[in-house]
Amino acid sequence: MAESFVHVEPGGRIVFGPGTLDRVPDEVDLLGIGIGRVLLIATASARDDADLLEVGLGDRFAGRIDGVRQHVPIEQAEVARAKAAEVDARGLVALGGGSAVGLAKAIALTTGLPIIAIPTTYAGSERTPVWGLTVDGRKSTGTDPVVLPRTVVYDPLLSRRLPVTVTAASVANAIAHCVEAIWTPKADPLTEVVAIEGARTLRAGLLGVLAERTDLEARSNLLLGACLAGSALAQAGTGLHHQLCHLLGGQFGLPHAETHAAVLPQVTRLLAGNVPRAKARMEAALETEDLATGLFDLFQAAGVPTSLGELGLTEEQAVAAAKSFDGQVSVDQLTDLLVRAWSGRRPEGTGR
Ligand code: NAD
Repeated sequence: MAESFVHVEPGGRIVFGPGTLDRVPDEVDLLGIGIGRVLLIATASARDDADLLEVGLGDRFAGRIDGVRQHVPIEQAEVARAKAAEVDARGLVALGGGSAVGLAKAIALTTGLPIIAIPTTYAGSERTPVWGLTVDGRKSTGTDPVVLPRTVVYDPLLSRRLPVTVTAASVANAIAHCVEAIWTPKADPLTEVVAIEGARTLRAGLLGVLAERTDLEARSNLLLGACLAGSALAQAGTGLHHQLCHLLGGQFGLPHAETHAAVLPQVTRLLAGNVPRAKARMEAALETEDLATGLFDLFQAAGVPTSLGELGLTEEQAVAAAKSFDGQVSVDQLTDLLVRAWSGRRPEGTGR
């Protein structure tokens, strides 16, 4: 018999497929944003696509913010909010990775403006009502339905030029959403299905991109996997793994996606044993006999750094982070976990 549960599903419209960038102007009209009222936020790496989009938006276009920074520093959010007020924006179109979507969310948080997100990485932020802001080196996050993008346009053509190293790290970030979604307190049988299918699709896409970077089928799989991963994150929420990554990102300025790759195998070693059924299903989806070492080996094969030391963190900082964390595991367990993540040890054993 299926277990009892309560499941909450956030809304949102999804437009998926190669060439769907061309449909953004229609999506703007569908939201009733109006003439001269769209503020475009674009990552510098997708400048050419942003130029095309700006032309396509025609007289709907009001202004543009180019270049975004990770973890949404408050200073950048304030400049962006002022720009939205200056052009009297009624809607936001974000083209880029989680940083571009994150900046749009920071504006939406204080203005209520609707967001159309066009993701070009696999971070999954476009599917969640979660916002993040960094003030004085501390990243805080919160949940507000107003920041959930109303429409997401997934065009696999846009991510074909994403470098393999950036792709692999971003996929590790998406897989982290899926894996953590099996053990959070809000996990339920529906989120488990989404998370496991997300991880399976992401692995297939990653192997395809490693074989041929611009392969459209692989890029489509990765975007579909990112969509599922973002949904899993939105529905199941975050736990120890995401909390640790936010702490490390905010406090030491570590790159977001790569931090996930180094931390996830170690947190999995500690926590996956708590959910044996979901762990076994996830192992089958990822074609591995042990989830923690399987993730570690997959990330290594894809060339993603699997140690925080490689990202510039010192052992002393790893220990200090463990001490400053206020969470559900003991300082000793956390110190062991973060020192392992710092050195990049293959996560054998149970960790308990
Ligand atoms: P990012 O947006 O900074 O992008 C990563 C890299 O990809 C950057 O160097 C960028 O320039 C490059 N890039 C993006 N699009 C490209 C393209 N089309 N071609 C070539 N290069 C391209 O980082 P990210 O990993 O996508 O997102 C990280 C941020 O998102 C963090 O701040 C994180 O906290 C946030 N995030 C939030 C949520 C949420 O639910 N709120 C979920 C996941 C991530």
